[in-house]
Amino acid sequence: MIHSKFFIDFNLLQSEEKLENLVNSIGERKYIIESDNYLNGLIKKYANNEKYNVSMSQNAFAITLWTLKAINQNALTSRFIIDQRDVTEYNLTVEGKKENENISTYCNMLGIEVSIVDNLFKTPFEFFISNNKKISGYKYRLIYQKLESGYVYLEMDQLIHILREYFVKKIMDIYNKINKNSAQTIFRQYGDKIENYRETFKEINTKNQINLGDVDFSIFPPCIKAYITEIRDGGNPSHMARLTLATFLHHIGMPNEDIVKTFKGTADFDENSATYQINHLTGKISGTEYSPPKCATLRSNHLCYMGDDKLCPKIKHPLQYYEVKKKSKKS
Ligand code: SF4
Repeated sequence: MIHSKFFIDFNLLQSEEKLENLVNSIGERKYIIESDNYLNGLIKKYANNEKYNVSMSQNAFAITLWTLKAINQNALTSRFIIDQRDVTEYNLTVEGKKENENISTYCNMLGIEVSIVDNLFKTPFEFFISNNKKISGYKYRLIYQKLESGYVYLEMDQLIHILREYFVKKIMDIYNKINKNSAQTIFRQYGDKIENYRETFKEINTKNQINLGDVDFSIFPPCIKAYITEIRDGGNPSHMARLTLATFLHHIGMPNEDIVKTFKGTADFDENSATYQINHLTGKISGTEYSPPKCATLRSNHLCYMGDDKLCPKIKHPLQYYEVKKKSKKS
């Protein structure tokens, strides 16, 4: 039987009142300490560009997510979500090896109707297509699936990968809905600590940036910075994020060989394929020079990370952001 520690308490994550009670209850101090240890460890590993991958209790997880909202550094939040995504995947793999039913039980507890038929996981089609887009490989394309009466039939490793992406989307969605001011109010007694996390992380993040040659990373729009961070963290940005990043870097003057190097950190990096795709997007072999999508398109694909950036609400295109910043830097 799968242990309840695997179930993130989504109600707690979304309730300001419950979070406030948790943070202010003397008896629950241990979760504040657990979260503090976790965040310090995560930031320290970030400095060395290493994975952290530490499991947390449900309460400490909730405190950490809200603390991250108060810290308000997208790159750190993204590192946390990727770290916990990998923890979830690892735990599910271990539990699935013990018993197949552990995985279907986990899905059912999340409200996803999954059952086992002939050793395969009968999974709702809707759930599959909502979570397969960021995963590369033919095994995750719809055309490869056996589709019957609204269900696809997946092997365990496929379903665990799909669950991993579901986890990222769900946590990101909850994080985006948390009000930053409420989070800062809940943690007001820990103001110095929050400031300390933020400043330590900003310092490390500046040192840790990928070498982008002559282009100026500091004036990149938040979306492009977020894609680069995801790559550096060994993530798998979606097809549209990759296209946006590659075409953006091309339009600001980066040579194709350097654009390829920028993608080196992706989990599924293949130099030949990346070179081919970048040469195609930049017109070297296709004759068509593609441009990055507009902000509206990125927004509707959940790829806008404007946060509380002051310039973003005034512009319509990531390249416009770069140009405006470049001009104001020169002047
Ligand atoms: S508003 Fe545009 S430039 Fe700013 S983060 Fe969103 S998509 Fe990027």
